Amino acid sequence: MTPEAQRVLKPAKRILLKVSGESFCPPNERGISMDSVNHLAAQIVKVAEQGVQVAVVMGGGNILRGGQLMATSGAQTLQEATAHYMGMLATVINGNALHDALQAMNQEPRLMTSIRMNEIAEPYLWRRAISHLEKGRIVILAGGMGAPFVTTDTASAQRALELQADYLIKATKVDGVYSADPNKDPNAVFYPELTFDEAIEQRLLVMDAEAFAKCRAHSLPVMVINFRKEGLLERAVRGEHVGTIIHI
Ligand code: UDP
Repeated sequence: MTPEAQRVLKPAKRILLKVSGESFCPPNERGISMDSVNHLAAQIVKVAEQGVQVAVVMGGGNILRGGQLMATSGAQTLQEATAHYMGMLATVINGNALHDALQAMNQEPRLMTSIRMNEIAEPYLWRRAISHLEKGRIVILAGGMGAPFVTTDTASAQRALELQADYLIKATKVDGVYSADPNKDPNAVFYPELTFDEAIEQRLLVMDAEAFAKCRAHSLPVMVINFRKEGLLERAVRGEHVGTIIHI
């Protein structure tokens, strides 16, 4: 890391926002609280109204993560692939909630899924997603990659590259990347800036390694910001250094 550097990115025209499922419920709870969804949706609308094109990759951890389910109760009878598909379905449940929250704010969002669900969402096609973005529609991408054994972090990196986003913004419950979980370790050190290699070497598990590798290979900057703090997303899309910036 270069501590002297106050890295500032260029203002974004198009972003890929990774929203974790935990932003859809109050701290330490599970499931969906529409108050939480509305809070996040309002922040997304603010940046969309400034002319920034926004694609959102939806997480599902507030409902179900395949790995966690296997570790806690599933291993006897559940196949691991099934558990991951259940996790992908959780992201679709969340995507539906975000869709309606955005629509209630006078937006014309589009919900696209990587697993075909034609009755409730459009199939994800990258060209069509770009076309929606160019029309100013917020595009919600659910179902991850449509394949098990990865997380929505990997889907975020993949979609950010396909959709030619200027950068990937990961909205988390903490201020950025730390040496340890700051909610558990009072000595956790905050990193305002990191290279992908540093993040991987130090096993800073803010995104999975596959996602990092994709971003690094294509020089796609990642910003990690706190979704609970009002106004940070607006500042992030202007290229301001809020949270942690991870770069090549
Ligand atoms: N998942 C998957 N393939 C994907 C994306 C997600 O199998 O491409 C499953 C995986 O089990 C994951 C769960 O869906 O744990 C929910 O996604 P994630 O854990 O990324 O949600 P978040 O932690 O961001 O809320």
